[in-house]
Amino acid sequence: MLHKQSGPGGETWRCNLTVDGSFTVNVLRKKLDLNSTLNLDQFTWLREIPIKINCFIWRAKMGKIPSTLGLLSRGVDVEKKLCSHCEVVECVDHALVGCKYASTVLQLVLKWCRVPLVELKTVHEVITYAQALSNCSKKKKVANGNL
Ligand SMILES: [Zn+2]
Repeated sequence: MLHKQSGPGGETWRCNLTVDGSFTVNVLRKKLDLNSTLNLDQFTWLREIPIKINCFIWRAKMGKIPSTLGLLSRGVDVEKKLCSHCEVVECVDHALVGCKYASTVLQLVLKWCRVPLVELKTVHEVITYAQALSNCSKKKKVANGNL
């Protein structure tokens, strides 16, 4: 998207989203909205849900929530490596879905949304389940937002 160029005046950056090479957040926003060439892994951004929640779900789907396993893979020294509830190594899927505590919360949310209760183990399974719930768009949106 941005390319470094060397010239007589030194190094400059050029954006390939505009004709003149200038970068603006507005141009990037329009490109993201069109989603024409940027791959966001088919994630549906819901306007009914606050942007922070959308971002959290998207990051969870990408496995980018800072879990113990994620921090260890980045070289961060973590003193306690096991989940305090289950005594297993904490990864994103475990922290948000697989953990006994998280699973209980998820089941309560599904019950509150009046959707069938099923056993889910990963963030991907939760999102896929929420997307396949029914043809009721309101139910889908509520369930998608309640990861
Ligand atoms: Zn746990």
